Amino acid sequence: MTTSQIADMLRSNGLKVTPQRVEIIRFLQAHRVHPTAQQIYEHVLRKVGSVSFTTIYNTMRVLEQMGQVRKIPITENAAIYDIDTSDHGHFVCEICGTVYDIAYKASFQIPHQARKTELIVYGVCERCMKTQ
Ligand SMILES: [Zn+2]
Ligand SMILES: [Zn+2]
Repeated sequence: MTTSQIADMLRSNGLKVTPQRVEIIRFLQAHRVHPTAQQIYEHVLRKVGSVSFTTIYNTMRVLEQMGQVRKIPITENAAIYDIDTSDHGHFVCEICGTVYDIAYKASFQIPHQARKTELIVYGVCERCMKTQ
């Protein structure tokens, strides 16, 4: 996405275009690393020079409501963001904290209208297995 495409997306989602917000989206797209709000904050601060946590949270909340990002609760008090909103699950390494995308196929019998499904698998990643 170019800067002007990012600006268009922000505007069409009712957000004012600011260097901070452009940088948030650029970061999410360039580094598909499932960042936490803290990591997004640190990146934008480094790139733009000033940003508040409120800006990060508000922007992420709007993007989430608009279906542009997924917020995935990894632990009771930590969430990661994913710009890939397609159906996929996550594997969380309990040693290094890395979050990996995983593909899965599942069918459920749900007698209600489902809004979202979150599959999170916890364990030890291959890299950490090797160094143990
Ligand atoms: Zn690991
Ligand atoms: Zn993902």
